[in-house]
Amino acid sequence: MKKVHLKRQISNRIAGGHPWIFGNEVDKIEDSLKPGDVVDVFYYDGKFVGRGYFNPQSQIVIRLFTDDRTVDVNDEFFLNRIKQCWAYRQKLGYIENCRLVFGEADGLPQLIIDKFNDYFVIQSLALGIDKWKPAIVKALQTVFEPKGIFERNDVPVRELEGLPQQKGFLSEPFQTNIIINENGLKFNVDLENGQKTGHFLDQRDNRTAIANIVKNAEVLGAFTYTGTFEIHAAHYGAKSVLGLDISESAVGHANKNAELNGLQNVARFEVANAFDVLKKWSKEDKKYDVVMLDPPAFTKSRANIDKAIAGYKEINLRAMKLIRAGGFLVTSSCTSLVQPELFLEIIGMAAKDARRKIRQVVFQTQSADHPVVWNMENTQYLKFLIVEVS
Ligand code: SAH
Repeated sequence: MKKVHLKRQISNRIAGGHPWIFGNEVDKIEDSLKPGDVVDVFYYDGKFVGRGYFNPQSQIVIRLFTDDRTVDVNDEFFLNRIKQCWAYRQKLGYIENCRLVFGEADGLPQLIIDKFNDYFVIQSLALGIDKWKPAIVKALQTVFEPKGIFERNDVPVRELEGLPQQKGFLSEPFQTNIIINENGLKFNVDLENGQKTGHFLDQRDNRTAIANIVKNAEVLGAFTYTGTFEIHAAHYGAKSVLGLDISESAVGHANKNAELNGLQNVARFEVANAFDVLKKWSKEDKKYDVVMLDPPAFTKSRANIDKAIAGYKEINLRAMKLIRAGGFLVTSSCTSLVQPELFLEIIGMAAKDARRKIRQVVFQTQSADHPVVWNMENTQYLKFLIVEVS
């Protein structure tokens, strides 16, 4: 096995079990080591750290698979890991649809696999995992006998690893527009052209958290995508629901999903820039009983964190102004750099500026098929908050 030795001074992160090793933490690298190779990592004093994959082109030069020296990385390793991931999801009750593999949190760094019933969508976001795609596909075929496997590697982060952006079939071609069941509702999912892997599984449990507060309510949902939260609201007895998204194709899907569930008379969707509309309508004194926000990540880099904070404050402030006294704000943030405490602080500032009083109803994270591993900050990325607004 090829070897890498770390410097004497390294961060506590590595000793704490975090699987990332940065370039400036590495002391000695064997000359023969090639990008994507599996490598053994040692502390300065020769103690074993773990086994992982190497890419000198990335800031994170090594990502660890294991700290167990007896575990070999080969086809069987991927079969075993995927079996473990599946056993865990089954135990937690995430069976029909689930995030089967959640990267670092499952010991498979930078690998995402979403299971939509008999169909699987894969993202391999680093060179060292991308190389193992054939083994991963073989493992899925062995465990699940899927009807189809699709690759959604059309993501810019791959370029930091020297990988091309690409998407396509990893199985025999199949019809990539499918229908899934979620919480007793049906949703069209476009595996090939939808956002990310086609459907946001991370909000599944949060969608049910609105069940009581939307009864007989007039509901506004911004950043609706395919209308999942809004269609849940209609299903749970909202009087009317309006969903907004900037993407025409998302709004098309959302309207189709409302029809698919026979809820088209309650839930309707329009193309709009939510920032503009929230600002305009709050000035016009429009009112709703419940406003729901679920914007895309506002930043991936610390350099833009202030802008992200300002963005969250702005939309939440506007949303609160639109809410009738005693109504509810349902608000999400998937920016992993905005930690839960900071998110609450931002909502507090928004309430103060909107001159509204709030009480926390629900504060939770992503569904449990996306496990949170303590001391791997970005495994807990989703904040989902409901507050009563008076
Ligand atoms: N709530 C959805 C996921 C939303 S993803 C669900 O649970 O399925 C974020 C959405 O925000 C995307 O569909 C994107 O098209 C939309 N979006 C991004 N910028 C926007 C803007 N300025 N106004 C309205 N929608 C926007």
